[in-house]
Amino acid sequence: MSMDMATTSKRSFLEIFKSKILTPRNLDYKLQFTGPTGANAIEAAVKLARKITKRTNVIAFTNGFHGCSLGALALTGNTTNRSSSTSQLIHVTRAAYAGYFGDSVDTADQLAALLDDPTSGYDPAAAFILEVIQGEGGLNTASSDWLQKIAALAERHDTLLIIDEIQAGCGRSGTFFSFEGMDVTPDIIVMSKGISGFGLPMSLVLLRPDLDCWLPSEHNGTFRGNNHAFVTARAAIETFWKDDKFETTLSERIDYLTQHLQGLAERSGFCIKGRGMMQGVDLRTPELAKRVQKNCFERNLVIETCGPYGEVLKLLPPLTINQIDLELGLERIEDALTEALQFQSGCPKTI
Ligand SMILES: *Cc1c(COP(=O)(O)O)cnc(C)c1O
Repeated sequence: MSMDMATTSKRSFLEIFKSKILTPRNLDYKLQFTGPTGANAIEAAVKLARKITKRTNVIAFTNGFHGCSLGALALTGNTTNRSSSTSQLIHVTRAAYAGYFGDSVDTADQLAALLDDPTSGYDPAAAFILEVIQGEGGLNTASSDWLQKIAALAERHDTLLIIDEIQAGCGRSGTFFSFEGMDVTPDIIVMSKGISGFGLPMSLVLLRPDLDCWLPSEHNGTFRGNNHAFVTARAAIETFWKDDKFETTLSERIDYLTQHLQGLAERSGFCIKGRGMMQGVDLRTPELAKRVQKNCFERNLVIETCGPYGEVLKLLPPLTINQIDLELGLERIEDALTEALQFQSGCPKTI
């Protein structure tokens, strides 16, 4: 661990992250290396937002997941996660995520009305924190229109916009950041999970440069600056993000996945959720989703579920998957679903 010391591997990572990720996207951030988990980075981001704005309230969204340490858990919506804490989960106000009440209600307008009204009872917020694609919450997605409204609202109220890229980032959405192309520049970005490119523990916080008001060693932590992870993270960026080859292949795979899932939706009547390489099938009941998951496992395929009840089957293929494996995986999922539907109805049924 390098902590706050300079190392060659840290410098190499910083250089390549700047030259291949930030600069081509016209982004300028300072990088903070926190403890190695996503939750560590979330804690740092929110703590900094509170320190800068001198406000305690943070607005988080329905179905959001931000980790299980105390501060991150307060931001997380999931009751199972939340009930693990007997400490009070405080200083967070919940707002409705994009599309929470269906397409006819614009929840960004709703939040604006609440925050613009000095008697609504909403305390001024240090930050809004959100995922552009909700990984655990059911693959709900924010549109660029919604996101732009939230960013404008944040700016109007001197509230910082924190985007949690822990799951949707590093190419998972089809672009390096999930907010790319949406005409929004977050004040703070939190990254982890895929960032080391090799499964090594690593997380980081990207700060708008003028927001860095940390005093030396103020936000401490022993396992910061994991040199092994810097080496692999640099290699991953060098290999996959040095030109647009990887992104082009990724976009072909995503097109195939999307087309396949749309076909499945038409045949089966189930809705498809998410975008990029994080899409899923809303199977409506956790029982069916569990059954499909089990059937997939019997076909040597590991698949997760997500959503409020675990009712969404969540496809999270490796970003480097080849076309043959992708087709094979999708075939197995269809088989598993067909078998589960037959089991459920007690009679042969094909989708
Ligand atoms: C996994 C995850 C976290 C928490 O990361 P940990 O490393 O498990 O602490 C936070 N936000 C999102 C969106 C995640 O998917």
